[in-house]
Amino acid sequence: MSRDPRYDILFEPVKIGPVTTKNRFFQVPHCNGMGYRDATALATMRAIKAEGGWGVVCTEQVEIHPTGDIAPFIELRIWDDKDIPMLARIADAVKSKGALAGLQLAHNSMNAPNLYSREIPLGPMDLPVYSYFSDPVQVRAMDKQDIRDFRKWHRDAALRAKRAGFNLIYVYAGKLFGLPMYFLSRRFNARTDEYGGSLENRARFLKELIEDTKDAVGDTCAVPCRISVDEMVGEEGIHAAEAQDIIGHLAELPDLWDLTLSGWENDSQTSRFAEEGYQLPFIKGIKPLTTKPIVSVGRYTSPDLMVKLVRDGVIDLIGAARPSIADPYLPKKIEEGRIEDIRECIGCNMCVAGDFTMTPARCTQNPSFGDEWRRGWHPEKIRAAKPNSRVLVVGAGPAGLEAAMMLGRRGVEVALAEKGEPGGRVMRESRLPGLSAWRRVADYRLGQIQQSTSVTLYRDSALTADDILGFGFAHVAIATGSAWRSDGVGRRLLRAAPLAGADVLTPEELMSGARPKHPNVVIYDDDHYYMGGVLAELLVKEGHTVSVVTTASEVSTWMRMTMEQLFVQHRLVNLGVKIVSHHGLIRAEGSSVTLSCIFTGKETVVEDCSAIMVTARLPHNVLAREVEARREDWAAAGLRSVSVIGDALAPGTIAAAVWSGRRYAEEFDEEQGPIPQSFRREVTELTAGPFYWEASA
Ligand code: ADP
Ligand code: SF4
Repeated sequence: MSRDPRYDILFEPVKIGPVTTKNRFFQVPHCNGMGYRDATALATMRAIKAEGGWGVVCTEQVEIHPTGDIAPFIELRIWDDKDIPMLARIADAVKSKGALAGLQLAHNSMNAPNLYSREIPLGPMDLPVYSYFSDPVQVRAMDKQDIRDFRKWHRDAALRAKRAGFNLIYVYAGKLFGLPMYFLSRRFNARTDEYGGSLENRARFLKELIEDTKDAVGDTCAVPCRISVDEMVGEEGIHAAEAQDIIGHLAELPDLWDLTLSGWENDSQTSRFAEEGYQLPFIKGIKPLTTKPIVSVGRYTSPDLMVKLVRDGVIDLIGAARPSIADPYLPKKIEEGRIEDIRECIGCNMCVAGDFTMTPARCTQNPSFGDEWRRGWHPEKIRAAKPNSRVLVVGAGPAGLEAAMMLGRRGVEVALAEKGEPGGRVMRESRLPGLSAWRRVADYRLGQIQQSTSVTLYRDSALTADDILGFGFAHVAIATGSAWRSDGVGRRLLRAAPLAGADVLTPEELMSGARPKHPNVVIYDDDHYYMGGVLAELLVKEGHTVSVVTTASEVSTWMRMTMEQLFVQHRLVNLGVKIVSHHGLIRAEGSSVTLSCIFTGKETVVEDCSAIMVTARLPHNVLAREVEARREDWAAAGLRSVSVIGDALAPGTIAAAVWSGRRYAEEFDEEQGPIPQSFRREVTELTAGPFYWEASA
């Protein structure tokens, strides 16, 4: 297939200072939870994006100095020459696949508590750090010598980045991560010297850094500036009109403007809270201020919208972090006219949770993400299986769909049996408020399966153990999912609560159309992810009075990991949902629910209400157990392996179910079967002595 000429404009080269990118697809810097700990895994991940057609592939933020140490978060470092080989590996990997390699110099300033380096953080003013965990650390106001020192550190880091082989070297003044942004923003900068006060003064530091960097590396490297165009705090911080003044003031200085919103939670909003291109109102109007190219993100997955943005002169380069994670081959698919093969980001921010949990990020749509080097998984390719391999997959939820699709790509003949609606929990949950984009998980896989000659989907097929033993498949994957518990058992209650005569519903029952009998509803959320909050929205919109009772200190507390918690709480409070924190369930009897404070044990009774249990789930593993119980019949039936995957093994996230399906497709025919530690690790080389204990011996 060849590409639609409508999209030609996306494949035009764009000059960025002294370098030229081959097309307009620009993977902007993004974190991934790998950083300095997982160097080769990270380099491989970036290389695959270059292979997938991105014209520019950037690193995440790279700390330039120990005074800007963002530990415990795991990013990259360019503190001294020892860091160069690791960074060079990334640059080499990216360039070997035909893309330009970008590096984002960063000093986290007020966002860096320096827990690892123990240095005093630096910023425009004496203030507490603005870090994620509210660490008990204060920032020291930089004096003139500090500013001179900083400029030298930054310049040295830029020179190292050039030596490491990068083509674009960023100055970072965005998202409350880059020191110059704290100087730009009035709320953090009340200095009275030439670095504070007027806009020109507040921009002086950024101006100097861009000039220094261009002077140091600008002969061969492009110097983009990543800047915040709105802090979303009104007049107090940088706002759209002021951002235009700042960019107008520095207009021609950098080689590229990379426009972001601040903080990160505003720039990477989920599909539950923001549409594709939600940044547009903030960046329209910037283009006429500069002749330099502009890149900006917006969770863009639609090539038509991308074309429109370029044609309308809004941006020159299509910035992407999440769409490039969900589909590293997005540009290539557009180029090859395979639009229907694009695996669109669902905007769930599971990838962001990787950064916040300091572990290799996982992606709901792309289970290979973070496992490219560790497990040798590729987002598109998978090795062929032995000829005439046949597998039966039972259940077409995210686990079963992924397993069937990837087995099909291996050339395995797959029968995929589904008793209900293909898509499983994804289809059910995507009908809940704000989650419609999640159905892309099912749509993509069903679309691929439809095109496949190896996979056959059997609808309305509720399989039994007899069926499984009767069909003659050597390998069977059971992906029958899970169901929410109704008995209150979860994190806090480890045994069923007394629920005599109470009107209790589970999330599944609500999703199947059942509704509470009482106008008042207590949602008991001991799960802490999205379900409790989403059901509260659903029921309020249908006219119920809703309380969310949570054992945690806030609603949907785990959504701090996806940067959604504050948006959830904001929405629920605005909807009039009562949030009762630090309370557990004791019992529900008749029409009353008894709760207790988790600190004091003091009981509260809520009268005249129904209860919704959002606590824990139980795997649907009856079928698997029945097949297991008939092991003596397996040989006669030609059955060699039965594996339980996805939620049927242990209920988890959709991302985990998809990953489990991929793992099955990768490993079903390995003789040893799944082994506990089936991934590669990169172990840090030990430093040579002499050591304390040797010297004292
Ligand atoms: P997961 O997240 O692990 O993929 P889901 O709950 O989304 O789990 O999907 C499980 C799917 O399995 C559901 O669509 C369900 O209808 C289907 N299923 C459950 N039991 C059977 C069975 N015995 N035969 C066929 N399909 C089944
Ligand atoms: Fe998109 Fe979710 Fe994947 Fe992140 S984890 S890239 S938000 S699909």
